[in-house]
Amino acid sequence: MSQVPASLSSWALNVSTSPTLAVDAKAKALKAAGEDVCGFAAGEPDFDTPAHIKAAAVQALGAGKTKYAPTPGIPPLREALAAKYTDTYGLPTTAAQVVVSPGGKFSCYLTVLAICSPGDEVIVPAPYWVSYPEMVKLAGATPKTVLATDATGFKLTPEMLEAAITPKSKLLILNSPSNPTGAVYTAAELGTLTAVAVKHNLYIMSDEIYEHLLYDGVKHVSPASFSDEARERTIIVSGFAKTFAMTGWRLGTIVAAEPIAKAVAKLQSQTTSNATTFAQWGSLAAYTEADKTKVALDEMLVAFDRRRKLVHSGLNAIDGIECLLAQGAFYLFPNISSFGLDDLTFCERLLDEQKVAAVPGSAFGAPGFMRISYATADETLNKGLDRLGKFCAGL
Ligand code: GLU
Repeated sequence: MSQVPASLSSWALNVSTSPTLAVDAKAKALKAAGEDVCGFAAGEPDFDTPAHIKAAAVQALGAGKTKYAPTPGIPPLREALAAKYTDTYGLPTTAAQVVVSPGGKFSCYLTVLAICSPGDEVIVPAPYWVSYPEMVKLAGATPKTVLATDATGFKLTPEMLEAAITPKSKLLILNSPSNPTGAVYTAAELGTLTAVAVKHNLYIMSDEIYEHLLYDGVKHVSPASFSDEARERTIIVSGFAKTFAMTGWRLGTIVAAEPIAKAVAKLQSQTTSNATTFAQWGSLAAYTEADKTKVALDEMLVAFDRRRKLVHSGLNAIDGIECLLAQGAFYLFPNISSFGLDDLTFCERLLDEQKVAAVPGSAFGAPGFMRISYATADETLNKGLDRLGKFCAGL
């Protein structure tokens, strides 16, 4: 008689499936089954990767760039990224401070693993991206979430941060522009939060994956830019997926003080070796052919900005919905709490009854809201808004 297998690990049992990916998978399955679904769930640009980046990857494949790469990334890409941070953001950066990883998500995870030990606390402002608390738990640390609602523009205040800090606090996670709200901290707001983190000797993981997706003339600011102390303790995470429509390429980046970058590379060497070699060579073209990159990015930004306004006014035109106009990323985070339905039921019924996929706010630690990704065609957005209006009118 065979033995009953032992239970799975506490890591596997306690981690939850990514809800953003789960809702997106459900929407895609419905589409594949022939349903006319308006998918507002995934944070995935509908554009194709710019042609020059794809061509560079194809060329790299042809040239045999199919072997292992150095663990922290191919040297020219690390150099290009160091130059980007030095020149664009005024953060003096060397290639030794840069690690290229298989996706922004993995960059975040390695950062958390490099900084946190069991027993440490990590301050996670909510609404948060779904994976932060789970990554913290996978490191054996404890996420301490602090909710900032639409009343403060979804932004953490220094008072809220101070109140969340304990002697166990090790890391503060910041994400501006934010997924899921699109909120962007002003330089002054970010400077104050950074000062609190410095005062309490916290590390900052600054997830800047939406750094280029900004509207209304807003400029990107990194917490690392405020002082030398801030720079030493800030780990900047970013990647190619959102800016260059490269979600499937899985290419993330980490920029940190050299000892932290080395720790991250050590963890990477034991978990995944390196980010896909020819994908790295392809992504390098984003910098070596910067003019073409700028044209492609500007085109995407024009479309995103138009859609942002379209969805914002469409949502606010629906009785019972209130939505702030966010200045970054490609998300809006409307308040749907007036309908007397919890957000999970609201989104489930919206998908079942009107075939509109959106992610409930609870997934981001913010019940009563939902996330709309407007990284999709105007036509789909119009159709989805129309259906959402009908759904709400029927409640
Ligand atoms: N980051 C994107 C999102 O929030 C992709 C899915 C995921 O990894 O969560 O939709």
